[in-house]
Amino acid sequence: MRVAVTGGGGFLGSHLCEALLRRGDAVVCLDDLSTGRPENIQSLRKYPAFEFIHTDVSVTADVPGPVDAVAHLASPASPPDYLRLPLQTLAVGSRGTENALELARRAGARFLMASTSEVYGDPLVHPQEESYWGNVNPVGPRSVYDEAKRYAEALSLAYHRTHGVDVGIVRIFNTYGPRMRPHDGRVVSSFIAQALGGEPLTIYGDGKQTRSFCYVSDLIRGLVAMLDSAETGPFNLGNPEEWTVADLAELVLDITGSDSEIQYRELPVDDPARRRPDIGRAGAYLHWHPEVPVAEGVRRTVEWFRGRSGDDTAEEW
Ligand code: NAD
Ligand code: UDP
Repeated sequence: MRVAVTGGGGFLGSHLCEALLRRGDAVVCLDDLSTGRPENIQSLRKYPAFEFIHTDVSVTADVPGPVDAVAHLASPASPPDYLRLPLQTLAVGSRGTENALELARRAGARFLMASTSEVYGDPLVHPQEESYWGNVNPVGPRSVYDEAKRYAEALSLAYHRTHGVDVGIVRIFNTYGPRMRPHDGRVVSSFIAQALGGEPLTIYGDGKQTRSFCYVSDLIRGLVAMLDSAETGPFNLGNPEEWTVADLAELVLDITGSDSEIQYRELPVDDPARRRPDIGRAGAYLHWHPEVPVAEGVRRTVEWFRGRSGDDTAEEW
């Protein structure tokens, strides 16, 4: 297969590119590196079947030659990133998704839409099943991300119904692991960077809010399974292991052996109180289940953060 991966310079995108290259696919990565890491592109260049196109996909997502699948991951994903880039986030969710869908339509390619658990907003149903329509504030600061992804899902299904594009939608829940930027502002990367740097761990609110954390190798297996299937979804992809933010801070302190203090900060506006995926559909249709427990995944991530300039490709899929 020749696969176009938008956002392939980012955390998840670069792991996806590498998983596809390792199994023998050709990969064309489209990225503007607005929130990605140039080191990711650098480490992918050792594969002869890897091509990189530096482009803002909200402007153009053209790829010369045949394309069998398009995986659309381009978007700021960390709250500080999308709050800093509100118009770009809306643009890539709308025009960027349309350009990526047009690429798939013209090429007759499968289209994988990387959506998010944020489509459920601050959920009133727990755990979240795909049939739940969500509780999103359409005018709050987070709406630039949540509504862009909701629109992207709607547009993908409109292309499926109108043009017959072979679309698959996954809703990704909080994922962590090697290649996160240490200062991207997400909770796992922040806590690990703070603990290793001897800085206070910043808990927003009282720390009782929950998230369910999925290790990157598990998530990538799910993305590849969805890409290879003919399913439309949407399917939740995430690890149902649910943690309070305060317990996660303790885990990171424990694994790193750090004596950093805990500092409490104001809870961001519209920060969801609870989040846990129901993954029954991904299990039934894709035979996908996460395997790496949070304690083990955090341990591996800490190891990677400790030797950050070292081998970037030790990951096994
Ligand atoms: P990331 O910020 O590391 O990667 C996103 C990539 O997209 C970056 O390389 C960035 O430069 C690129 N990009 C952004 N706007 C672009 C544009 N207009 N044109 C071209 N490239 C652009 O984030 P990530 O965690 O790897 O997330 C990847 C995708 O998965 C995103 O779509 C995100 O919404 C989704 N997702 C991630 C998570 C998670 O926990 N990591 C959870 C839910 C959904
Ligand atoms: N969070 C925190 N300290 C940080 C970063 C995040 O307490 O330094 C909290 C944040 O308020 C949220 C949870 O951790 O309740 C997960 O945040 P993240 O940004 O990783 O993901 P999202 O909010 O998108 O689920």
